[in-house]
Amino acid sequence: MQALVLEQADGKTLASIRQVDSSDLPPGDVTVDIEWSGINYKDALAITGKGKIIRQFPMVPGIDFAGKVHTSSDPRFHSGQSVVLTGWGVGENHWGGLAEQARVKADWLVALPEGLEARHAMIIGTAGLTAMLCVMALEEGGVTPESGEVLVTAASGGVGSTAIALLHALGYRVTAVSGRESTHDYLQQLGATHILPRSEFSEASRPLEKQRWAGAIDAAGGQVLASVLAQTSWGGVVAACGLAGGFDLPTSVMPFILRNVRLQGVDSVMAPTARRIAAWKRLVKVLPASFYQQATTEISLSQAPEAAEKLLNNQITGRTLVRVR
Ligand code: NDP
Repeated sequence: MQALVLEQADGKTLASIRQVDSSDLPPGDVTVDIEWSGINYKDALAITGKGKIIRQFPMVPGIDFAGKVHTSSDPRFHSGQSVVLTGWGVGENHWGGLAEQARVKADWLVALPEGLEARHAMIIGTAGLTAMLCVMALEEGGVTPESGEVLVTAASGGVGSTAIALLHALGYRVTAVSGRESTHDYLQQLGATHILPRSEFSEASRPLEKQRWAGAIDAAGGQVLASVLAQTSWGGVVAACGLAGGFDLPTSVMPFILRNVRLQGVDSVMAPTARRIAAWKRLVKVLPASFYQQATTEISLSQAPEAAEKLLNNQITGRTLVRVR
C-alpha cells in the first residue's frame, strides 16, 4: 500500500510517497482502508517540519481520516463498516491517515453515523468536530438562541466556519470576527448576520467593556480572546479551542468575578468516545446540505506536501481533502 512517509535528515523533515507493507503498520485492533483524509493546520506543520508535531520518525502524518474497516479483532467493528477517526495523537505519534491503510485502536474509531458518507465526514474533519464540541459547551452553559448574540472568531477558518453554520442552523444570531474582507460573502452565506474586523479585537482591551455577547466560540486565543471575555455579557459562556492569534491570554479576573463569565476549554484530541459519538450525530442532524457544497480542494496523496506548503502560506481557502483511493 502507498503512504506519505516523513523522515528526518540533518534536522530537516523529508516527505515522500512510499510503498509500505501492511505488516509494517503499527499494532492495533482494527485495520482501515482509508478513503478520504484531509490537510489540517497541524498536518501542514508536521509535513513541512515547520512545527514540532512529530518526535518519532519514520511517521505517516494525517490527524483525521474516514474509510472502511478492512479487518477487526474487536467485536465493535466489522469488515466493510464505515468509520471515522480524529485525534488521539494519530498522525503525530501513531501512523496516521495519509496512507491507503491505517491500523489503530478500536477505542479511537467512531462508526460513521447513518446518512454521512466518508467524503462529507472529512469535509467536517477535526475542525468541524471541534466546532460541534464548542457549540455543545455553550448549550451546556445555558446559552440558548434567546440569550442573545453569539460571537465566532477566526471565522473563516475550519473551526469558525463550521461553528457559524451550526449556530445559524440552531437558530442563534451570529456575529463573525474575521481578519479578511474577502471572506465576508462566504461568512454571510454560512449564516453570520454581522461581521466585525479582527482589528477591533486586537488592541489591548479594558478589563470590562460594554456587554455584547451571550456566548462566543474562539479559535484565535491571545488578545482576541481577552477582548471577547471583556465584552461577554453577565452569565455568558466562551468556548476556547484555538490559538490562531497566539497562545497567551492577557486578561484579568474581572469578567469572571464581576460578570459570572464562564471560560470553557475545548479539546477534541482526547475527547471521550461517548462525547464524540454524540457530536458526530449532532453534526449530521444539524448541518444543512448546503454546507457540503462549500469550496473544497481535492488532491491526491502525492500532492499533500505541496498542499501543506500552500496552507501555511495562506494560499488555500476552505478544506483540503485528500482522496486516498
Ligand atoms: P484554519 O487555518 O482553518 O483557520 C484559522 C483562522 O484563524 C484563519 O482562517 C483566520 O480567520 C484566523 N486567523 C489567522 N491568523 C490570525 C491571527 N493572527 N489572529 C486571529 N485570528 C487569526 O484553522 P482551524 O480553524 O482548523 O483551527 C483554528 C485554531 O483551532 C488553530 O489554532 C487550531 O490549532 C485550533 N484547533 C484546536 C482543536 C482542539 O481540539 N482544541 C482542533 C482543531 C483546531 P479570519 O481570516 O477569518 O480571521
